[in-house]
Amino acid sequence: TTSAELLKNADQAMYEAKKNGRNRFSFFTPMMQAMAQARMRMMRDLRNALGLNQFTVYFQPIVDLSSQRIHKAEALIRWQHPELGFISPAEFIPLAEETGLIHEIGDWVFQQSAQLVKQCIPIVGDNFQVSVNKSPVQFRDRAHSHHDWMEYLSGLGLSGHNIVVEITEGLLLNADSGISDKLLHFRDAGMQVAIDDFGTGYSSLSYLKKFDIDYLKIDQSFVRNLSGEGEDLALCEAIATMAHKLDLRVIAEGVETTAQRDLLAQIGCDYGQGYLFSRPVPADEFMQLLERSAA
Ligand code: C2E
Ligand code: CA
Ligand code: CA
Repeated sequence: TTSAELLKNADQAMYEAKKNGRNRFSFFTPMMQAMAQARMRMMRDLRNALGLNQFTVYFQPIVDLSSQRIHKAEALIRWQHPELGFISPAEFIPLAEETGLIHEIGDWVFQQSAQLVKQCIPIVGDNFQVSVNKSPVQFRDRAHSHHDWMEYLSGLGLSGHNIVVEITEGLLLNADSGISDKLLHFRDAGMQVAIDDFGTGYSSLSYLKKFDIDYLKIDQSFVRNLSGEGEDLALCEAIATMAHKLDLRVIAEGVETTAQRDLLAQIGCDYGQGYLFSRPVPADEFMQLLERSAA
């Protein structure tokens, strides 16, 4: 009914057309508007979530496949929204990246992770590691450096080797000198680096050496359909063999059955992570799992 509204709605339709790959048209629908509003609302609430203690870090065990004991954990953030309930990180992390909030959130997840390490060391020893997901956006910011993290670690009496940073292949593909410098700083500080979702992106194998990568995490999509003969088994085995030749360790994600676990162990995969061992759990529950595993 008003020209302003017409233009606003047309703009939204254009945004949708762009999002779906450009060079196409799209009609405005009220649904589109509702989704855009929900998104705006989520962005607004995200800004306050940290201050309001709505986040929790869950930890998922990473198990040594030969000893079946817990060796590491991955930190996975959870958001409990007061009205909307649980919101998946797959949904809000992209918004946090877009708004720059990922820096604050990422630092907080890191601190929670370091505190967990501190509690775990008396039970399983100095080599315990927690891996933290680090988004490409966090690498692009010059203001944030690994120094803050190192300072936090040394404040707790910990060192870099207790932390693994998980990155995706895409980061290495587009790595400018800023990103490679940051990765090398991590290494110099003793932190290790894992490639997440390995096998799903574009990877250049030469990057594995160039950036001094320590772990490959085989993506869940390869583990899901593992069977005695299929191609996925051959793929996982090839990844493990290549990784070992390059002196990297392999972690299989999404292990849900004992059959998958046994096949992975057979082909020389070093670690497993997945619902078979445990879902991601709050810190206190993780400590109980660890105590039982170390007993
Ligand atoms: P990701 O890093 O690939 O994390 C693994 C995801 O697989 C987690 O989902 C985990 O709960 C799930 N998972 C673990 N074992 C199994 C299994 O056996 N079967 C199945 N079907 N799923 C399994 P989650 O926690 O929902 O996290 C989704 C994604 O959100 C993560 O994928 C990561 O990319 C991102 N994310 C989570 N926490 C953080 C964070 O603190 N910082 C950043 N930057 N990203 C995060
Ligand atoms: Ca991860
Ligand atoms: Ca993954």
